[in-house]
Amino acid sequence: MSTNNHQTQLKGFIESVKAKQPHEEEFLQAVEEVAEFILPFIEENPKYKKAKLLERMVEPERAVLFRVPWLDDKNEIQINKGFRVQFNSALGLYKGGLRFHPSVNLSILKFLGFEQIFKNSLTGLPLGGGKGGSDFDPKGKSNEEVMRFCQSFMTELFRHIGSETDIPAGDIGVGAREVGYMFGQYKRLTNEFTGTFTGKGVKWGGSLLRTEATGYGLLYFVKEMMQHNGDSLEGKTVVISGSGNVAQYACEKAIEMGAKVVTLSDSDGYIYDKDGITHEKLEFVKELKNEKRARIKEYTKQYPSAKFFGDKRPWEVKCDVALPCATQNELEEEGAKALVKNGCKLVAEGANMPTTTEAIHIFEKNDILYAPGKASNAGGVATSGLEMTQNSLRLSWTKEKVDEELKAIMRKIHDQCVEYGKENNNVNYLKGANIAGFVRVADAMIEQGVV
Ligand code: NDP
Repeated sequence: MSTNNHQTQLKGFIESVKAKQPHEEEFLQAVEEVAEFILPFIEENPKYKKAKLLERMVEPERAVLFRVPWLDDKNEIQINKGFRVQFNSALGLYKGGLRFHPSVNLSILKFLGFEQIFKNSLTGLPLGGGKGGSDFDPKGKSNEEVMRFCQSFMTELFRHIGSETDIPAGDIGVGAREVGYMFGQYKRLTNEFTGTFTGKGVKWGGSLLRTEATGYGLLYFVKEMMQHNGDSLEGKTVVISGSGNVAQYACEKAIEMGAKVVTLSDSDGYIYDKDGITHEKLEFVKELKNEKRARIKEYTKQYPSAKFFGDKRPWEVKCDVALPCATQNELEEEGAKALVKNGCKLVAEGANMPTTTEAIHIFEKNDILYAPGKASNAGGVATSGLEMTQNSLRLSWTKEKVDEELKAIMRKIHDQCVEYGKENNNVNYLKGANIAGFVRVADAMIEQGVV
């Protein structure tokens, strides 16, 4: 099929998906990113065409929407929306995080759930894809308010999840505190202590290194990419966005690997530390964000040689490697152009879909190595899979054992991207990740019949 015919086919497919959910912009963006590579692949492999696999994959198996009422500290009733999208169970039970953020809606959760299907497939573990959350904003709430919200959220969600059905984890706004409150309520409602959550506290069933896994895994993936190009991270300047879970541990591992990390950010802006963020400075950031729940600009009070740039993103800073680790669509065309102009050579996503389609095309045109989150941030869910294994075996592995498994999984994901994404002498990681992720799910769906 010619390129023109591919474009027409892609347009037709996206139009048909759009007709069913015209306002779900983020979901349509995620579908288009996958379809661009999968439709031509299906054309070359007709067994997938007859089974209408992509058409089936874009419909979630189930999505629940529910009311979450709770009492704030003034004893006033608050009402939020709760969601769980159980997207695809061809490879295993539904697995994917919960996000608490005011921007959460069905489109965002469908995009995240759809991405999760391919990501989970790439890990090689028996995990289906799902995602959930609420438009609740934990920012500025007391611990008691967060607990009451989590308990109310779980009072409905518990009937839809379970250790053999659907196992949630954290995401934006859902960390150790929220997972603890939700697990506590789940246990109380079901009278069962089962591994129905990952990201649990290590004293009560959690895996060592789960907290670090997404950020560490991202850097293991970057290491593989660089090695494949005969290079290393040693001495490279790295720009990171975000200052939450993924950003913190990406920063930690990058420093360990000998890179100089010069930025972190939050939704107010970014800090630039020309001397580089050290382990000691990072400990300060962890306390600032995880304990005090304060803003990243406080960093400049503690370290006055650093500068804060309000309402800006860090892509204008000169670097060799850029790691977007905050949220979707945070790296747009303008940021991509600035990175190219300043000599950036590699972009790897810690966040889910942080790069817009236009920005991806700029990287492609300029031969920038670009890794999509479904490959490069899969270390989190992979370690969740390892947590589930440990729960089933009723034992806990050492940090070293989990780290070795994580490294091996990231290496395998990289190998699959190379296998399916080879183009002349280069690797198209986006193509590789999409096709490799698709094949495993597609084969399972064919074997399981039209369900
Ligand atoms: P956290 O809640 O720990 O941190 C999120 C960070 O992103 C914060 O610094 C936050 O700043 C910033 N942020 C959130 N929304 C926006 C926005 N609209 N504009 C600018 N900055 C924003 O979340 P995680 O670190 O867990 O998640 C970050 C990303 O990584 C998400 O895309 C998530 O889906 C993805 N991811 C997470 C995994 C995990 O294991 N946690 C696994 C795989 C992917 P502020 O404090 O101002 O809100």
